[in-house]
Amino acid sequence: MKEDLYNLAQEHLVRYGGDVFPTLFTSAKGTIVKDSQGREYLDFTSGQMCATIGHNHPAIVDAVHRAGEKAFHFFSGMIPEVVAELAQTLARDWLPGDLKRSIFINTGSEASEVALRMAKMYTGGFEILALGGSWHGITGGASAVSMASDRKGYGVPVSGIYVIPEPNAYRPYIDKATEEEAALANLDLALKMFDMQSTGRGAAIIVEPVVSAGGVLVPPKAFMQALRKAADDRGMLLIFDEAQTAFGRIGTRTGAEYFGVVPDIMTMSKTLGGGLPVAAVSTTAKIEDDIHSKKFAFYTSHVSDPLAAEVGLAVLNVIQRESLVARANVMGTYLRGRLEELQQRYEAIGDIRGLGLLLGVELVTDRTSRTPAHQLGALTTQKCFERGLSMNIRRRPERGSVWRIAPPLTVSTEEIDRAVDILDRSLRDSLD
Ligand code: PMP
Repeated sequence: MKEDLYNLAQEHLVRYGGDVFPTLFTSAKGTIVKDSQGREYLDFTSGQMCATIGHNHPAIVDAVHRAGEKAFHFFSGMIPEVVAELAQTLARDWLPGDLKRSIFINTGSEASEVALRMAKMYTGGFEILALGGSWHGITGGASAVSMASDRKGYGVPVSGIYVIPEPNAYRPYIDKATEEEAALANLDLALKMFDMQSTGRGAAIIVEPVVSAGGVLVPPKAFMQALRKAADDRGMLLIFDEAQTAFGRIGTRTGAEYFGVVPDIMTMSKTLGGGLPVAAVSTTAKIEDDIHSKKFAFYTSHVSDPLAAEVGLAVLNVIQRESLVARANVMGTYLRGRLEELQQRYEAIGDIRGLGLLLGVELVTDRTSRTPAHQLGALTTQKCFERGLSMNIRRRPERGSVWRIAPPLTVSTEEIDRAVDILDRSLRDSLD
């Protein structure tokens, strides 16, 4: 029967990209996901980076029940009480500066579309600066500012997009004495190029505070501050895409808090839903008043859904109640230490980086040449899976093979030890 279902899936599902595991999955709880053979896997990817408070946390299950007793959905013109509550909670407890007005939708891609539309309407411009290794979503506008490789084959590209090289201390585009100098020199050159080509109608600079899919790259703080200034100097808005960095994963409430930079618009998704589709975009009253006067619109079928807001509120409460922001630092330090022990034994581990529980481990053939070890990464990831550890490897042909290691913030030291042991044995096997 289970075998049949796997075959049925092969027959009837569109293959939507990415690596697919050779089994079907049935349930998830905390850090553990289970397949239809009853095998358990440690989930060190938090699903799609969403299950930050652990899979199927009882508070989320309760929130869904609560929505079921009240309402899942209304007409978009009927603002649910719980949406007002979530908007207030975000503004009061979580967001920096004067980001006080929010809209609630469902996915990170939608959130990027909202942010870009806001910026274009507010500024009257259309030019967007984005980092080369970024990911902001799969829909039209969002994919236009994401990694180019995912835009091939889908027709005419969106115009007005300018790509800045992402800072990468391990593989700098321009080599300088320090990481910060290299990042700033890159930016300086990129901005000069932009200014030469720009029509003067800039709308926004959009960045992930940590370039995650692009290889878990943490820019120097001075780089983010320089981006803030670059946006201000050109009358453009600064957008932070905090799909992954918001609400604790990197050990601060938001990426903005870590960098000490307040963006004009912030997008939040993955973490906010804890595994359910919940996303938000927040901006200032000044920007919101302006675009409202210009008839800003984003009424999707599920805008302001009470189900999503009930879940979002529950997730934020759990993060606060269980002190998960602080826990990300404690567990992140522990996990990093364990990975550094492996690095001492394996030449192939070229670099370990990241913040809190968003860590990147870059694999190389040797530390002198830093040649990306793509095959080793793929093989070891497969061996980890066979031993009960789910890992995600980010492969960019020209840049490197990087494991993004991001378990739920509720992960225990015992689970980390088990995962590192599996990683150790799988690496050893693959290198044999
Ligand atoms: N922004 C970032 C930083 C992301 O990581 C993602 C998802 N990988 C998105 C946006 C898009 O979100 P979604 O897949 O929910 O549309």
